[in-house]
Amino acid sequence: NAEMRYEWSREVCGVLRNVFKLPGFRHNQLEAINATLSGKDVFVLMPTGGGKSLCYQLPALVYGGKTKGTTIVISPLISLMQDQVEHLLEKGISAAMVSSRGEAGQRRNTFQQLKSGELSLLYVSPEMLTTNSQLRNVISSLYQRDCLARIVIDEAHCVSSWGHDFRPDYKQLGQFKKDYPNVPLMALTATANERVRLDVAFNLNITGCALFTQSFNRPNLYYEVRDKQRDVLEEIKELMQVKYPGKSGIVYCHSKNSCEETATKLNRLGLKVTYYHAGMDPEERVQVQIGWQEGRYQAICATVAFGMGIDKADVRFVVHYTLPRNLEGYYQETGRAGRDGLPSECILYYAYRDATSIMTMIDRDKDIDYDTKEKQRTFLKQVLQYCENQTDCRRHQVLQYFNEKFDSKDCRNQCDNCRIAAVCEFETRDITEITKDIIRTILAIQDDNVTMLHCMDVFRGARTAKIQGAGHNNAPGYAAGKDVERTDMERIFHHLVAQSILKESAIVNRSGYAASYLRAGSRAIFFLSGTERLSLTFLKGGGA
Ligand code: ADP
Ligand code: ZN
Repeated sequence: NAEMRYEWSREVCGVLRNVFKLPGFRHNQLEAINATLSGKDVFVLMPTGGGKSLCYQLPALVYGGKTKGTTIVISPLISLMQDQVEHLLEKGISAAMVSSRGEAGQRRNTFQQLKSGELSLLYVSPEMLTTNSQLRNVISSLYQRDCLARIVIDEAHCVSSWGHDFRPDYKQLGQFKKDYPNVPLMALTATANERVRLDVAFNLNITGCALFTQSFNRPNLYYEVRDKQRDVLEEIKELMQVKYPGKSGIVYCHSKNSCEETATKLNRLGLKVTYYHAGMDPEERVQVQIGWQEGRYQAICATVAFGMGIDKADVRFVVHYTLPRNLEGYYQETGRAGRDGLPSECILYYAYRDATSIMTMIDRDKDIDYDTKEKQRTFLKQVLQYCENQTDCRRHQVLQYFNEKFDSKDCRNQCDNCRIAAVCEFETRDITEITKDIIRTILAIQDDNVTMLHCMDVFRGARTAKIQGAGHNNAPGYAAGKDVERTDMERIFHHLVAQSILKESAIVNRSGYAASYLRAGSRAIFFLSGTERLSLTFLKGGGA
């Protein structure tokens, strides 16, 4: 039996059945477990819900004849750690956590347990490692006594500044491999982006690690981007009452306020919905989470803070009420639907204006430096491209972002674009000339601080008082787009922003009011010089 080839194999199977009470392994779990038990450094990429925890929780209980030791797990979210420790204790596994939240007495107790070697798993936040020298000393003394079994870095994408969720405290985790070179390290993430992966392995000093990866496709999820122009709340109501009565879901909103407002509005429509965000006290959040898990609330209006580490298998719908800020996060959030493998739905409501307001938020954010802003803008443009793309398979698009080749035939019409493609014809049109005209227009008027809407008006030759007052009716490019249909023109402008040919930037005036003004973008120059061409796919029969 191939599974029985290691000295610890019998023990591994025993722990799986008797402690975790599971019938077998999922894809790559056993492979990752064997690799770490062999002493290798391991990198596990698994989609959300794939079963990452078992990859390190199980080997923490397997000794293979060696001295007992403690597995240290670094995890970014206190609520997630709490959840995991509770689950482990329920299974009779000796586990604990130290975080900045814990009280001193309790912490002393945990350190005592840790020193005495009683703990199989200790969860710590990265901040604790930075700030608490006592913790570092205890870990170091475990190491000296050969009782440091393994270091685990959960949500390892946080190590990379190329990731969507970079945490500065994660950077120092690279020190582990330097201080304890022969202690196996395991990094886990649901982020498959190759650049991030390389960066993580490099920063953690495990570039030669064993890598376990798999397709990130989730065949049971249906993906759709819907136009946010119509009455979205009525649509959500119908989704909940008609399509999924009595079934659970999540409605992601972009801010605390928006969570509360949306929940209130849905309540008024007669739906059992509540909200969840980081501004609530922990007790309240736990109540909301339990209420949802037990089905007392059909849906939660939540910020992206909700969902990590929450183990609910039968989530039937995930709605993004506003535009997500990046594709990685989006994919992880949608991944919370359908963990039980049954058909589930992921709907993203898209309005270009949401992108503008997120762009403004990035511009105005005082807590992040220029590089971070640039990255966030790039991430947002990728989301914009995804939403504006009405022709390519959604799975193909997202998985391509993760460097996975996906043949859209395998989508089996489980996304909006594949369904449309099955019944409609597309045509690709060269829009280079229109693009040049638009660039000429914006260059002529951008110094007057104009909005995208105003630029569109100039381009199509509107005769508004504002245009005439500013003399923009005499600008080059005025009325150059008079034959382009309104909806096509909007798509083209949005596409040009996504392609960095145009850009919107927020300008704050003296009274603190921020407006988003249109400018020529960094790639505009290539069109004026004639070195690049651009095309866009339209449904056949449209104008332009
Ligand atoms: P991830 O961290 O990758 O999002 P989890 O570790 O939280 O995923 O696991 C997701 C769910 O899958 C949990 O309910 C877990 O109990 C379950 N699970 C994990 N491994 C197995 C397995 N081998 N067999 C059955 N269920 C499993
Ligand atoms: Zn598709």
